[in-house]
Amino acid sequence: MAVFMSNLNNHIKLRAHHLLCLQGYQGYGYDEDFKRNLEKLLTHLKTNPTITVIKTADVLCSHCPNLKDEKCCLNLEKYDEYSTKEEIDNSNEEIAKMDSNVIKETGIIENKTYKIDNLYKIVNNSIKNVDDLKDICDNCKWTDVCMWYQSKL
Ligand code: SF4
Repeated sequence: MAVFMSNLNNHIKLRAHHLLCLQGYQGYGYDEDFKRNLEKLLTHLKTNPTITVIKTADVLCSHCPNLKDEKCCLNLEKYDEYSTKEEIDNSNEEIAKMDSNVIKETGIIENKTYKIDNLYKIVNNSIKNVDDLKDICDNCKWTDVCMWYQSKL
């Protein structure tokens, strides 16, 4: 686990597609540690709203069981000792593409620092309905329970 990212006292970096996930969260997650960390982050952002937008593993990924060696293995059928570097890189790139597409769709600037409420405003003004979410949420398994996604239907 990347300790430097798990400390909420550090400046918070968020990957772009998590701006959608945070708005849609209603108690579902990959495991208890992931959910606890996400809820801690939501509380933290109320009094520390400044974050930097990135396209790589972030403060949420640091407590996610899908993160292996800083790469997101979510899209692997199964992660084990037989998983190849190519399979892991492909999975990681597919997830990073979600971040790139959020950035493209919204005009948010990578590595720039914003207030979280401003980012939510930009995202919500740019993405009005599910048609705008093609290439972002198409392969997400949480859409049925994501309040934000459901609000765009
Ligand atoms: S699934 Fe991937 S992108 Fe999502 S929190 Fe886990 S490691 Fe990060």
